[in-house]
Amino acid sequence: MYDVLIVGGGVTGCAIARALSRYRLKVAVLDGAADVAMGASRANSAIVHAGYDCEPGSKMARLNVRGNAMFDQLCQELDVPLKRVGSLVLGFSQQDGKSLERLYQNGLANGVPGLRLLSAEETHAMQPGLSDKVLGALYAPTGGITCPYELTCALAKNAMDNGVEFYLGSPVRSIATLADAVEVETEEQVLLRGRYVVNAAGVHADEVSALAGDASFHIRPRKGEYILFDRAVSDFVQMVLFQAPTAMGKGILVAPTVDGNAYIGPTAFNQDDKEDVSVRPEALDELKATAALSIPNLPLSKPITLFAGLRAVADTGDFVIGRSEKNPRLVQAAGICSPGLSSAPAIAEEVVASLAEAGLVLEENPAYSPLRKRKKRFRHMSPQEKAQAIAENPAYGRIICRCETVPEAEIVEAIREMPGVPSVDAVKRRTRAGMGRCQGGFCMPRVMELIERETNIPMDQITKNGGGSRICVGVTRGEAKQ
Ligand SMILES: Cc1cc2nc3c(=O)[nH]c(=O)nc-3n(C[C@H](O)[C@H](O)[C@H](O)COP(=O)(O)OP(=O)(O)OC[C@H]3O[C@@H](n4cnc5c(N)ncnc54)[C@H](O)[C@@H]3O)c2cc1C
Repeated sequence: MYDVLIVGGGVTGCAIARALSRYRLKVAVLDGAADVAMGASRANSAIVHAGYDCEPGSKMARLNVRGNAMFDQLCQELDVPLKRVGSLVLGFSQQDGKSLERLYQNGLANGVPGLRLLSAEETHAMQPGLSDKVLGALYAPTGGITCPYELTCALAKNAMDNGVEFYLGSPVRSIATLADAVEVETEEQVLLRGRYVVNAAGVHADEVSALAGDASFHIRPRKGEYILFDRAVSDFVQMVLFQAPTAMGKGILVAPTVDGNAYIGPTAFNQDDKEDVSVRPEALDELKATAALSIPNLPLSKPITLFAGLRAVADTGDFVIGRSEKNPRLVQAAGICSPGLSSAPAIAEEVVASLAEAGLVLEENPAYSPLRKRKKRFRHMSPQEKAQAIAENPAYGRIICRCETVPEAEIVEAIREMPGVPSVDAVKRRTRAGMGRCQGGFCMPRVMELIERETNIPMDQITKNGGGSRICVGVTRGEAKQ
């Protein structure tokens, strides 16, 4: 019997799991995917939004501003990168000027600190390379960038270290509500019983809610597509650059990543398919044309990859968070579209409070540690630190991913620590092996060899990303060597 079963191992579910792990509770996270961070939490803009564009009085506004303020401590405790680079919403016309003024007033109402409306001169001085057509901007110093999948993996790892259990590759197919518990059954007919169930199932949260008897909202996926640029040509943007928002969202950005790349995106395309994360060919022209309004000289010939994520847009117009009115054992963390990443730590607080309201007893866990300790990344070490690391463990001297300077030692550590069955992409999300210019062209076979060596999973069973994504289908180890 678990106290809480969490459906969904994205940033929301993992933040809730970690927040619950500070209490003496038996908690499990179930996710249908082979790893955590496989939904929207792996493919988004990675921005810690300041919180000026959410409707005052909405849950989004309150949790975004609160979440933003929690990020410094969170990232410090989990050793996850956070850069407070600041954001600009650029204005190109008098009409945009009115939008910026409205956002500024929204921001004041939401309690966003430090907002300023900038003149054209101030804006161009802050971010060189902008289009001459930029007439001013709204500046938010608390806007930042982080790494969403690293954050999610770190939340999961810290939750695991504090006793939370993870059932990955376990899609929830039914939820039965009993008098004092819920019974959650997975596709493989694993049956788990819990006192409460938390729904953090991303784009599928409406279906999971309906399984538990609450069909009060619907979710429609809204695709966002991106072009990511090579680090070598990414010094053209230092801050997060928005354009005035539209009814479809925050518009197409030009922004840096914490790892030194830059991207343009996302688009906003409503679709019915909840799995399709392909990039539409027509999205590329839209991205290039719109982003060039902000920065005309984009290195459009130097992309290293394209990707897309699906926002979980609920028909309620706001996050759906708190106790279900239909099922006393169900707590929702649903409809978590943007700014869900920025809000995640505050959503977790809110969900814990809802569980307590529902009757969950919160008694401090004396063994709880908020810290995820890990070794400094090899690529961030000084030459002396590198020499010492190699002397202590020669696997630091064997560089597997040359684009991102990832040594064997870091890949082995990631394989040993991950909650699910290791895949090539699970290693990539934790180490950056395969994230560079060659996108794994050189290191993927070597990563596979390490997975095989560390786990005894035969080469032809190793997947790119779980499920049926086997890489060497029909080839046995011996044949592959020949
Ligand atoms: C294009 C785009 C850009 C964005 N940019 C930003 C941004 O810059 N800043 C920001 O704050 N937010 C941003 N967001 C929003 C943010 O990414 C999301 O709010 C956040 O990642 C949602 O996390 P989640 O855990 O709720 O959902 P997800 O990460 O989607 O996780 C849900 C999980 O539930 C699992 N699941 C679903 N159904 C079941 C089932 N039946 N059984 C078991 N498991 C199940 C899935 O496998 C998945 O792992 C963006 C989103 C997108 C798509």
